[in-house]
Amino acid sequence: RLRPLIAGNWKMHGTGAALEQIARLKTLLQEAGDIESEVLICPPATLLDRAARRAQSSAIRIGGQDCHADPGGAHTGDISASMLLDAGASHVILGHSERRADHGETSDIVRDKTKAALAAGLIPIICVGETEAERLAGTANQVVGEQIDLSLPDAFGETPIIIAYEPVWAIGTGRTPTTDDIAHMHAHMRNLLVARFGTAGESALLLYGGSVKPSNAEEILRTPEVNGALVGGASLLADDFFSIIVAA
Ligand code: 13P
Repeated sequence: RLRPLIAGNWKMHGTGAALEQIARLKTLLQEAGDIESEVLICPPATLLDRAARRAQSSAIRIGGQDCHADPGGAHTGDISASMLLDAGASHVILGHSERRADHGETSDIVRDKTKAALAAGLIPIICVGETEAERLAGTANQVVGEQIDLSLPDAFGETPIIIAYEPVWAIGTGRTPTTDDIAHMHAHMRNLLVARFGTAGESALLLYGGSVKPSNAEEILRTPEVNGALVGGASLLADDFFSIIVAA
């Protein structure tokens, strides 16, 4: 079995006070002792450096929520992959549906950002997922397949491939696909990744995201081909997030 990754995406939530949640999670993890999962928190960029300091000497890793495709330059408001690394990030979320929708990020852009993240030494977490209309139209597999084809570069080197399947209609809605639907989509993604990347595809981590909560985490995380979760709302409170971590 692949080592699960439980990642929290804080989105545009949190100021300095939220760092107490990292301190609390650190305590919970220390008290629990051996935890099988890898634990990642992706706070807003303004908190990265402080979050990384708070997470020091714990198993908690810190990640960004986006990066620019260029290593530097005249891009007001943007952040490069190496800046994230410098601030203490090990991972970066790329192509989240909120960025695809709010910022017009196409899969081509996501692929360029992924290349930039890899070049800087960050581990990208590439997000894919269909809208509700696409699911109802029966095109979910095709949409996600195209997103995977186009959003991933041809080579990851030694860096693990991490994909988060986040159906857009399940994000922040309290609705989730059935575990059968999740299993089917994850099997589909696994097949595509193995066909294209061979053994690197076999060891790719396939996360599920969208309304993962303490109450449904165990069922979702024991679904075949689910190797972890990308958690939004339920990652904001350490106790909720910890329940999801121990469910893996
Ligand atoms: P929620 O867990 O709040 O539904 O968000 C999921 C998500 O978008 C994580 O990236």
